[in-house]
Amino acid sequence: MFNSNSLRTSILVSFLLFSSLVQAAVPDENLVRRWDNGEGEGGDASGASAGGGGKAQVITKCSVSGTVALTFDDGPYNYLNDAVDELKKAGAKATFFFNGNNWGCIYDDANVQRVKYAYDNGFQIASHTWAHKDLKSLSREDLTSEFTRTQDAIEKITGVKVAYTRPPYGNYNDLVLQVAYEQGQTLVNWDFDSGDSVGVAASDQKARYDKIVQEHPETILSLEHEVHDTSIYDVLPYAIQKLQKTGYKLVTLAECLGTQPYHNETSSAKGKGKDDTWTCS
Ligand SMILES: [Zn+2]
Repeated sequence: MFNSNSLRTSILVSFLLFSSLVQAAVPDENLVRRWDNGEGEGGDASGASAGGGGKAQVITKCSVSGTVALTFDDGPYNYLNDAVDELKKAGAKATFFFNGNNWGCIYDDANVQRVKYAYDNGFQIASHTWAHKDLKSLSREDLTSEFTRTQDAIEKITGVKVAYTRPPYGNYNDLVLQVAYEQGQTLVNWDFDSGDSVGVAASDQKARYDKIVQEHPETILSLEHEVHDTSIYDVLPYAIQKLQKTGYKLVTLAECLGTQPYHNETSSAKGKGKDDTWTCS
């Protein structure tokens, strides 16, 4: 006969078992999504967390089977809206890693409009840091500035706090990982390079797409650059068609990872409009 004592015991055992499972899961969760847990702090984060040794996660691959995340660096620049339109036309999404001041200043009216256009159309926007420096060569103070200036600019323009950063040249060291962690950023590199940044001809970039499609990996996380007209007007339409015909779904980085693109969707900074802090000087 099943008595209430043994029922109580089994409930207690189940509870303890469950608690230990939950506890076991906590450290990883903290490590990966520290900012999401509300422990992150903007601005000067050189206090308790700095000595704690937390390091940002670095991603090089998508995890949702059948997805492709096309990612474009170095903008916002002249061809951005056309890239958005080309992708939209095909029912595709992509991700843009913006600099603050590289090919142009992110606060220039035309660039503000472009950043908004990409965001408003449901594309993921993310940080490529401020001035495209090799982060490996910077002090903690300079590094922090490269991160925060860009994050602040994107937040002022769109209202969102970005969760992902691509380090220029894909370069990072331990200090970069620490600062990225303090800034609530996951670093993102790639597993497919179109070669556009090193002058690979458009026809050869297409051949790289032919090859990867033939190899047919489960997922693709690309590296391209929105600042080259051939990347947007020649290679992109080809890549979209080729990938979709093969059955891949073109999604944002967050969608290919099954995560959230931002730490928030609304911000007090949104809608305040341009003031004298919107400057690249
Ligand atoms: Zn770059």
